Parts: sequence; structure tokens; C-alpha cells
Amino acid sequence: MAKTNPALGIIGGGQSGSLLASAAKKLNIYTVVLTDDNQALAKHFCNEIITAGYSDSTKVREFTNKVDVVTFEFENIPINILETIAQSKPVFPRPAINKIVQNRLLEKQFVNSLNIQTTLFEPIKNKLDLSSLKHFSPAILKTNTLGYDGKGQYVLNNQKDFDDLDISFDQDYILEKKIDLDKEISVIVTRYQDGTIISYEPIENVHKDQILNQSSIPANISKNLFEKAQDQAKIIAEKLDYVGTMCVEYFIDKKNNLLVNEIAPRVHNSGHLTINAFNISQFENHVRAVCDLEFVPLKKIHNAKMINILGSEILKYKNKKLNTNEFFFDYLKKEAKPNRKMGHLTIITD
Ligand code: ADP
Ligand code: MG
Repeated sequence: MAKTNPALGIIGGGQSGSLLASAAKKLNIYTVVLTDDNQALAKHFCNEIITAGYSDSTKVREFTNKVDVVTFEFENIPINILETIAQSKPVFPRPAINKIVQNRLLEKQFVNSLNIQTTLFEPIKNKLDLSSLKHFSPAILKTNTLGYDGKGQYVLNNQKDFDDLDISFDQDYILEKKIDLDKEISVIVTRYQDGTIISYEPIENVHKDQILNQSSIPANISKNLFEKAQDQAKIIAEKLDYVGTMCVEYFIDKKNNLLVNEIAPRVHNSGHLTINAFNISQFENHVRAVCDLEFVPLKKIHNAKMINILGSEILKYKNKKLNTNEFFFDYLKKEAKPNRKMGHLTIITD
């Protein structure tokens, strides 16, 4: 008897959840999205949507019962909810991985334990810890958990900034040495359930105000760094026994040192260009891996550049006449708040 495709549950209905659902549709996979946002974009792409708070156990159970395997679009879902779901259905990537990568301190300690370099860092619990580390300056203080797009970060450029910082320390922080950046790159890998692993080529990223602004391939880096970044990302995925698509963000400093910045246990914003640049996108690869479908060798088709569209900039794009090498994706968000990711444009560059 032919194997039937599993039904896929996706937690989170934003742009990544939508792009996952749309990749699943292409593979003839039924999708059910669980989201706490009643305006979620994913309703246009999935087969079924359940809108409920993640702590609504009845709705979470209903969601779980409808699907064969569960994944998520963002890692900050309460871990106990993922663990509850995992008691009855497989959850990929495994929830235990989130415990490590949700926490900047555990994440960096894990990466260093693999003999892979990160920025210098120290845990910070209070003002006294911080004051004793003024020699780290210039530095960045970050909340240990729940930060994204630069939220919960304080740049401390000099010792006065250390003295002046007035925060309550009601949560744990990490102090990182600020890197004199030459470049930032990311590497997206997908690991299948049988251990097959593939890596996309490094993507060069430009951030503005700590938010990803542009991603492009090919990254303008040496062959040595190209291969080293791919190797490290694969080692990290293997050591995590990862299933699905994940991303490793790297810093390259002015001395050409490669440093891991962070691990995203999910499809990644910098990989949106894979939709137009490769035979199989990061989203399709994720769906294939978590649903245990056939692995298809990866082939690059184009070089490309992706631009994130923030806030009211989206208005310019809504009625823009696109060139044949341009692909616009509108996240259809109602309110164009400043610095909010509203959509993206991918441009084929060859
Ligand atoms: P987020 O979880 O918000 O993505 P990141 O730690 O990746 O947080 O920081 C966002 C951006 O801020 C980075 O991509 C980089 O541009 C800048 N940044 C963060 N940490 C450092 C650092 N230690 N040195 C230099 N730049 C940094
Ligand atoms: Mg980041």
C-alpha cells in the first residue's frame, strides 16, 4: 500500500507558518495551524486554522488530535505545551532543543562545548555583576530569553554607559563583548530523520538597528569561511539531533574570525530567498524532513537578494509594478508599526 502523507500541525500563523503551509500544500500535505492571533496570515494558506491561546488545553488537544506530526514557526512557545503535545504526537524539532537555544547563555555554552567559537560572554544577574565587567566595554547586554529583532538589548559603548544603565534586573541577562563586525552571515541546514543533512550556501546579511535588513547570495567571503561555516552548522545540527530546517547566525570580525551568534531552531528570515534561488526552499525542506518524505538533492538555480520591508514602507510596494525578476510577499498585517516586518521582496540577481 502506498504511504499516505501525514497531516502536519504548525504552531504559529505568521509569515513563516504561512510559507510552511504553502510549501506543504505543494507536497499535498494537509495542514492545521494553531495560532493565538485571530488575524493570522496563515488562514490564507493552511487547510484548517485553530485560534486559541497556547494555554487553552482543550484547543491544543483538538489541534493535536487532528494531525500526525507537529512543528512550529517560532521557538518561544511555552516549552510545557510542546512537551504535552510530544506525549501523543512527534514534535520536530524536539522540544528539548528549545530549552538550549531559547536561552542565550545555555546556547553559547553548548556551542563552545563543541569547540566552536562565540563572542566572549558572562552571565549577569544584577547591577553588581555588570559593574564588575566594565572591561568588556564596548559590550551588549541582552536578556537571556525571549529577545528578537534586537528587543531586550542594551548597547554599552563605554564605562559611563555601564554606570548609567537603569534597568530592574528582574530577569537574567548575558553580557557579550561587542564585535567589530566585518560581516554577518547565516547558514541554513536541513536534517532529515534518517540523519541525511544538507546545507544551503552561506547567506550574507545586513542588519539595521539590530533588525535584518537585507540577505543575499553569494556571500562575499573566502572559500575557507564558506566551508567552515557550513561545517559548523552541520556539526551543531548533528549534536542537537535536529530534525527539520534550522539556521546558524554568524559574525565575522575584522580579523576574519568566524563566531557563532545564535541558533534559530526553525526556518529563518534570511532564508526566504531560498524560495526563488533553489530547487527546494528552506520551507519545503523543513516539511519534507519533519514529515519524513523523500530527500531531494539541493540545486541552486539563481543568485538572489532579499529585502525586508518594515513599517509604512510597505505602502510603496503594495501597488508597485514588479519586474520579472522581483517577487513580493505581503504579510498582510493590519497595522504598519515602525520597524515591524510587513513583507519582503526577493530579487533574482543573475
Ligand atoms: P536577536 O535575537 O534579536 O536576533 P542578536 O543577538 O542576533 O539578537 O542581535 C541582533 C543583531 O545585533 C545582530 O545580528 C548584530 O547585527 C547585532 N549584534 C548583536 N550582538 C552583537 C555583538 N556581540 N557584537 C556586534 N554586533 C552584535
Ligand atoms: Mg539574531
